Amino acid sequence: MRICNLASGSDGNCTYIEGEKARILIDVGKPLPYIFNALNSIGVDASTIDAILITHEHTDHIKGVDKFARTYNTCIYAHTYISEILFHQLKNVREQITYFDSDFFVGDLHIVPFPVPHDSKFCVGYRVEQGDAVVSVCTDLGSFTDTAFDAIKGSALVYLEANYDAEMLMSYPGYPPFLKRRINSGHGHLSNNDCARAIEKLVHTGTRLVALSHISKHTNSENLAVATVASYLESKNIIPNVNIRLDLTHHEQRGTIFRITPNSF
Ligand SMILES: [Zn+2]
Ligand SMILES: [Zn+2]
Repeated sequence: MRICNLASGSDGNCTYIEGEKARILIDVGKPLPYIFNALNSIGVDASTIDAILITHEHTDHIKGVDKFARTYNTCIYAHTYISEILFHQLKNVREQITYFDSDFFVGDLHIVPFPVPHDSKFCVGYRVEQGDAVVSVCTDLGSFTDTAFDAIKGSALVYLEANYDAEMLMSYPGYPPFLKRRINSGHGHLSNNDCARAIEKLVHTGTRLVALSHISKHTNSENLAVATVASYLESKNIIPNVNIRLDLTHHEQRGTIFRITPNSF
């Protein structure tokens, strides 16, 4: 599999995953020109995308879906539980949506959705398998539940949320108290420390690569997220660049292109 995050964070999310026989996007939360250019920068023609998989109905995940899917006649997959919302929000591409309530295939990619606790109508993460090569995308969750852990354990690569630094969130003057409580709740987002504890568990299942994702512009920074996660892991004798590689996603710029082949780790 070839994988690349194209954008991540509250301004828009999109992750590209390519198998031998299928090319998918998980969420299209940026405008079409941005996605078109980001795909182009990794040598992918937007018209060759087979499917868009939606995690949940928040704007930063679906903003660009309508235009993209109309332009390229792309199939869309979403969970049954958000069908009523998408019926209205994606009314121009209604006919292109397939609703799922369990795992499914897009070409040679086996897609295993799993529920995560988030303050949307319903939110899923995705485990994507091509043979025994496994990649998971797990963002927008208030807590790293046993369900999420069981769903993504053994993934070679995980895009995992590191949304906020707890102290920066509490002292940030730009958010009202209710919003801070929402972000910090079990149905909001994962903090850097939550993310670090999740990685500690995942490393023991064989995960060797984690891309810190959905990093807040206001209450976190890329450097702080990596430093916090790395220092927690070191305190548990999990050494970055030895036992685990930490990578990053960005708000307005694509991330690293990863290749995960069966038994590549
Ligand atoms: Zn989001
Ligand atoms: Zn969300």
